[in-house]
Amino acid sequence: MLTTDSLTRFMFENAAVRGEIVSLDDTWREILQRVEYPPFIQHLLGELTAAAALLIATLKFEGSLVLQMQSDSAVRLLVVEVTSSLTLRAMAKWEGDVDEAEFDNLLHNGRLVMTLDPAKEGRQAYQGVVPLSGHSVAEALMHYMTQSEQIDTRIVLAADDQSAGGMLIQRLPDQPAGDADAWDRAGHLLSTLKQDELLKLDARIILHRLFHEEDLRVFDSEALSFRCSCSRTRVANMLKMLGREEIDSVLEEQGQVDVQCEFCGRRYRFDPVDAAQLWLETLPIPEGQTRH
Ligand SMILES: [Zn+2]
Repeated sequence: MLTTDSLTRFMFENAAVRGEIVSLDDTWREILQRVEYPPFIQHLLGELTAAAALLIATLKFEGSLVLQMQSDSAVRLLVVEVTSSLTLRAMAKWEGDVDEAEFDNLLHNGRLVMTLDPAKEGRQAYQGVVPLSGHSVAEALMHYMTQSEQIDTRIVLAADDQSAGGMLIQRLPDQPAGDADAWDRAGHLLSTLKQDELLKLDARIILHRLFHEEDLRVFDSEALSFRCSCSRTRVANMLKMLGREEIDSVLEEQGQVDVQCEFCGRRYRFDPVDAAQLWLETLPIPEGQTRH
């Protein structure tokens, strides 16, 4: 039986190579459901979504990973958030007409931002930023991994309007190499993987096609799903940060404050009574402390 929306890890026996393969169908369609993205944006966002799932699986980490591509070009922002429980949400912002030619503009002044936000309270978030480079989402990420993480990484990504998928292999840095040629062989075999195969075939079939001559250990697949972490409390906190003056002026103009989540489309409404609650709950800041 085909497993949709799954992440499958594998490793080469007796060699410092490990990898993952991810396939997203329902999750990806759920992300696409609310916004009509231009095809090129859809393609980039799908690849970045698959990539985020691959990357969180390489980390021993509880919390969320946010992957962003930002630029001043027509492709303003691509954001994907994936949690260590393998839930995903994603969205994009763009301006005007965008097509394939935009990738070079995106690169021109764009940057890739990776944020790790630990689930445990009190743990510091980590953020890495690098200029975008390469000619695809996969190349930009491989550049990031080599530059910032210093781990040899190969990534293949694909996305259309129904599915998004990706495959990643890494050379484990601090392990005996064992079969020293395995990394080069794995990279070569991965480069033969076609985008169509990645989108249409089950992970196990792909692994068999690529690596049937290798001594491969394949782990049980894990399920991925769409989930948006927005909530009324989070929206209330965001409104508090905007400040009373700003909120009061919206209330005066529109009679209420309407906020729509950019990831899932859920609407949050604050009428004047709800809005007044925002300020009641704000405790006065003690003397000697400043608000940042
Ligand atoms: Zn939401």
